Amino acid sequence: MKIHEYQAKELFAKFGVATQQGYVATTKEQAKEYAAKLSSSMYVVKAQAHCGGRGKAGGVKLARTLDEVEAAASKILGMRIVNKQTGAEGKLVRKVLVTDAVNIKKEFYLSLAVDNENASVVIIASGAGGTEIEEIAASQPELIVKQLVSTTMGLRDYEARYVADKIGIRKENVKEFILMLKNMYRLFVEKDCSLVEINPLVETEEGKLIAIDGKVNFDDNALFRHPDILELRDVDEENPKEYEAAKHDLNYVSLDGSIGCMVNGAGLAMATMDIIHAFGGEPANFLDVGGTATTERVTAAFKLLSDASVRAILVNIFGGIVKCDVIAEGIVIAAKEVGLNVPLIVRLDGTNVEKGKQILKDSGLKIYAEGDLRSAARKAVEMAK
Ligand code: ADP
Ligand code: MG
Repeated sequence: MKIHEYQAKELFAKFGVATQQGYVATTKEQAKEYAAKLSSSMYVVKAQAHCGGRGKAGGVKLARTLDEVEAAASKILGMRIVNKQTGAEGKLVRKVLVTDAVNIKKEFYLSLAVDNENASVVIIASGAGGTEIEEIAASQPELIVKQLVSTTMGLRDYEARYVADKIGIRKENVKEFILMLKNMYRLFVEKDCSLVEINPLVETEEGKLIAIDGKVNFDDNALFRHPDILELRDVDEENPKEYEAAKHDLNYVSLDGSIGCMVNGAGLAMATMDIIHAFGGEPANFLDVGGTATTERVTAAFKLLSDASVRAILVNIFGGIVKCDVIAEGIVIAAKEVGLNVPLIVRLDGTNVEKGKQILKDSGLKIYAEGDLRSAARKAVEMAK
């Protein structure tokens, strides 16, 4: 799960990671009003959306007066940020953060992430932080420092000091840096994060270290034990279909193609997408209804596939634990409820397959029943054209 920068900064403040005060506004009037509460004479208005690269997209603006704050907020609210992270449709900005402008002397990159290969946490840092960090990581990887942290030992001072030295933290700031990193680590572990990132971490002209951007991602599988974190969820930022799917415990990912897929088991779902590709088609989604699909879940899954961009639906079910008749019933109920206006190709096999096929046949729906995956995929690609 992702959260906004302003929420990440609230967590930073709770965990003792130096950051800035700020206010979130949804209108330009509000932005102006809140800016007046800040003590500074220079402001920054920042788009709050679940994506990075806001600065480059024009979503971070400096303002010298309250009127400029209002003007900046007016430009940013309602804009769409489109970049590599957002995909083609981009991210609509519904909120802005109004905060103090900081006198930046140097920008660092500092993050904690899960290192799967080494089963540990990894500190990733750089003295070349800021908006160019992706390019730097690609062209000058030697400027990126990595330090593994053993989760049984926890973060040691010397590990933090090593990182500080490598990225060029001034002697005067090293103690502050170690404390900051340790507090980030505490946040990472206590809240089951998958990423805690500060980019940039800034050395100010006044000689202090402060996080002026923040990104925190959480492990979805651990959210059940963090009701406080779940409250930070912003449904507006999530793909509405993926959100709906999650409510029904379905593994669903939206894609750009035209063939809607309903499959049981992640492996079979991948194979189905591959074979669609092999026949020259594009899947509209990845959808795994799981091994314990009930009629209710199949119905919900089928509804997710009824999308304007979907020109054919391919159901590929191998009934092992899940029974073919249950799947068939779900399909029939859903197809009647949502109306079936694209070709439906079904390949069913496994437990109760005859019963399942009979249910589909008796339904009176126009269904193309195929005996094997190959012919089913070919048919789906053909029908979607
Ligand atoms: P993003 O990473 O989405 O582009 P950031 O919050 O990192 O957004 O902002 C981009 C850049 O804008 C920063 O690298 C920094 O140079 C500048 N910036 C952001 N916030 C402030 C601030 N409060 N004061 C001064 N400059 C800022
Ligand atoms: Mg940033």
